Amino acid sequence: MEHVEVSGLKIPVAEEADLFVAGGGSAGVGAAIAAGRLGLKTFVAERMFALGGMMTSGLMSKIAISASNHGIAEELLGRLDAHQKSDFLSGRHEVPIDPELAKWMLDKMVIDEAGAGVRFGTTITGVIREGRNIKCAIVDSINGLEAVKAKYYADCTGDGQLSFKAGASYVAGNEQGYSSSPTLMFRIANVDIEKLIAEMESHPGVYKSEQDTYSNHKISPAQNRKNIAGDKYAHFADFIPFIRQKQKENPGFLNEWELEMMLQRGLIFMNQPQGNHVLVNSTRIPYFKGNDSKELGDAMVAGRKQVAATFRFMKAFVPGFENSFIMDTGSMLGIRESRRINGDYIFTGDDVNKLRRFEDGVVSNFGGVEIHSVDGKSTDIKELQGGFYTVPYRSIIAKDFDNLYIAGRCFSASHTALSAARNIAYCMALGQAAGTAAAQLLHRNRDNVRDIDIKPLQKDLEPVI
Ligand SMILES: Cc1cc2nc3c(=O)[nH]c(=O)nc-3n(C[C@H](O)[C@H](O)[C@H](O)COP(=O)(O)OP(=O)(O)OC[C@H]3O[C@@H](n4cnc5c(N)ncnc54)[C@H](O)[C@@H]3O)c2cc1C
Repeated sequence: MEHVEVSGLKIPVAEEADLFVAGGGSAGVGAAIAAGRLGLKTFVAERMFALGGMMTSGLMSKIAISASNHGIAEELLGRLDAHQKSDFLSGRHEVPIDPELAKWMLDKMVIDEAGAGVRFGTTITGVIREGRNIKCAIVDSINGLEAVKAKYYADCTGDGQLSFKAGASYVAGNEQGYSSSPTLMFRIANVDIEKLIAEMESHPGVYKSEQDTYSNHKISPAQNRKNIAGDKYAHFADFIPFIRQKQKENPGFLNEWELEMMLQRGLIFMNQPQGNHVLVNSTRIPYFKGNDSKELGDAMVAGRKQVAATFRFMKAFVPGFENSFIMDTGSMLGIRESRRINGDYIFTGDDVNKLRRFEDGVVSNFGGVEIHSVDGKSTDIKELQGGFYTVPYRSIIAKDFDNLYIAGRCFSASHTALSAARNIAYCMALGQAAGTAAAQLLHRNRDNVRDIDIKPLQKDLEPVI
């Protein structure tokens, strides 16, 4: 068996592939399906035991998909609908999914149909690099250390783990290095949502919101009821005056930090149309950088404390939650931003706001700026009034390398631009672009990701541009 040597250790080469996909989240799935369908031998290393990343293991079961995205993301949503006889996709641009069903459907699409070799429980721990090329990735699993050789690599780890280990240059967070604050998602089951809607209709003053939040947080109770009947999301926010009122009536119910935590964002939750449960997007971890393992662990613990306090309040006071229970919390922390790898072009907030369309655009998106303040206390939102921008091919190729793509939320973007361009369907489309581009390179016998023929690539990517 062939071996490679790293720091005196002899590591067996376990696999050889055309494309090595690091991480099987939204971007990794897009890359693996696109490349696999185009005949590439594709290897996916995923540290969890499911595909989907934040979408499934992080419980972010609300997929934002633009009207212009007819790629793999749309196909996934259509197939989930067909399987469960629902019509959720018609509610685009926000489509609910059941994370458990999505895990199964992604196994089917990536492993059974696209033929990608997926290794779960497998963490990328290092890289062997020669000049501007990655020669192999080192992975750790129950087997111990192994090497995987490939011609092209796609870093879809969200945190830019493969690129970081290869020594790529990157930036993180805002000017002070802090990221948009993360959230630990959780779901509450056995909720009587109709009871809540009826209460909100009869006492509108009690449930009014205080913060200037997204348009979908201002949906009226009547519209929410209609949405639920029509397989669409119902949104509820922010209950801040309600929280203050309940604390006044029940002094000491929430201690000081619990009250402060609950008032930073209020309660934000959505119905999950598959049943009588809701998805809660309320917690926030302040002053997070996302590049230190102790910080990551502490953030998860802090997230669970916030979940416990939030749920205790909801069960005690919010109508319809009297018999509810916590169904689950995310197995992954909801990290909005960590490392952003430097590409040949850094996509900017100006590109988003001006709806710029690039000559080498490979993916279009519709999201506006959405920065969750580093102290967790506010959200800077600029919803775009229709229209799309594109992301250039140069932003998905790592500046310091000739055979490395960067797709998903670690792609080359500024802090502001990433806040706009990180939704699930769009990350999937970035992966689709990377996988499709790798196939073109292989079929034309080219090694360098910059030797792409952009027009034919754009033709292949028409569904997502
Ligand atoms: C709180 C929150 C709310 C959001 N709201 C929405 C929303 O409403 N709608 C929407 O569309 N989007 C939303 N998003 C954005 C979206 O969920 C993410 O930006 C997107 O899922 C990121 O996809 P990704 O593939 O880049 O990364 P991920 O989904 O994080 O996938 C990365 C994968 O890489 C794996 N990995 C990481 N490191 C390694 C390693 N060393 N070895 C092996 N595997 C590794 C991880 O386990 C994971 O599976 C939200 C995000 C957050 C955090």
